[in-house]
Amino acid sequence: MSDKQQTQPILLTPGPLTTARSTREAMLRDWGSRDPAFLELNARVREQVLVIADAVDTHVCVPVQGSGTFAVEATLGTLVPRDGKVLALINGAYGHRMVRICQVAGIATEAHEWNELEPVDPKVIARLLDADASITHVAVVHCETTTGILNPVAAVAAVVAERKRSLIVDAMSAFGALELSARRVPYDALVASSNKCIEGAPGMGFAVIRRSALEKCEGNARSLSLDLYDQWRGLEKTKQWRFTPPTHVLAAFDQALRSHAEEGGVNGRGARYRANCRVLVDGMRAMGFHTALPDDLQAPIIITFLLPKDPKFAFETFYQGLARRGFLIYPGKLTKADTFRMGCIGHVQPDDMRRALVAVRETLDEMGVKECAP
Ligand SMILES: *Cc1c(COP(=O)(O)O)cnc(C)c1O
Repeated sequence: MSDKQQTQPILLTPGPLTTARSTREAMLRDWGSRDPAFLELNARVREQVLVIADAVDTHVCVPVQGSGTFAVEATLGTLVPRDGKVLALINGAYGHRMVRICQVAGIATEAHEWNELEPVDPKVIARLLDADASITHVAVVHCETTTGILNPVAAVAAVVAERKRSLIVDAMSAFGALELSARRVPYDALVASSNKCIEGAPGMGFAVIRRSALEKCEGNARSLSLDLYDQWRGLEKTKQWRFTPPTHVLAAFDQALRSHAEEGGVNGRGARYRANCRVLVDGMRAMGFHTALPDDLQAPIIITFLLPKDPKFAFETFYQGLARRGFLIYPGKLTKADTFRMGCIGHVQPDDMRRALVAVRETLDEMGVKECAP
């Protein structure tokens, strides 16, 4: 089969995600890392990220090679000083991962955990901060991709700012689709990656960091390659990355950012994801499936469904049936309930969601599943 005829699978997952053809085509060219056109591309990308974050005057964008976790690790390791202490807010796997990152880096950490189906609670955070003056930083996940739950980041930011601590937001699965204006929601760092809601190729992450905070971070890093202070200084001085940049990923990201702006920025992208989410949730409920979360806690990013109790239902068979029909889904990650997940993000449209629902129906019929309630 030629490349053209080959149909792409639709990735209904938390990432990597379906990308637009224009984004993939942007990778058909090689770049010299010192080429002026490439340096310009870098500057353009960094600026556009700040535009999306509404942080042009206050923050800087520091990109880093690797997946999203590398960027979270780089941000925590760079921002938190040797005598600092992180309060990590946990209601899913990505909160736990931030604690692991701190432990490996030798950063003092206090972890506070909520049930996976509950948002983090600003009142509790206020109490924890008032009780421990040694906490310097608070780390929170915007959309916890484990379940798809939305955390009240604006309210958390207000509590943290009032107490003059520093806020680090893992906005990996929300940035570019859910509004979070740095002008209205004070944070010192926000972390995201090239391949979630911006719909670029996977391979790099970035942090949007308050300039006045980053200026104080020289020598904090616990790792050479994940030192965002050094990376920032290098980019400012030479316009170049310190080590081999992911050139093709950056070119794809540049194109993906253009498509993001053409779609209407955060509002346009968010509206398409909300439409995808509505079609998916309504269609699945019509077949009898139950979502793990109530609609008011659900972000239009990824949906957790409870496994049907029908003995004919087996996740692996369901997965294979959907895969044969061109849709890749994801297992669940809840500790207490059997679930699977379907994403609404990436270069997918409401019509793709309708076709996915047809594929779900056909697969269930093939399996002989009649009852989709848990
Ligand atoms: C995807 C994601 C990450 C990073 O995961 P990688 O696999 O390292 O790209 C971090 N936090 C959240 C909330 C995510 O959704």
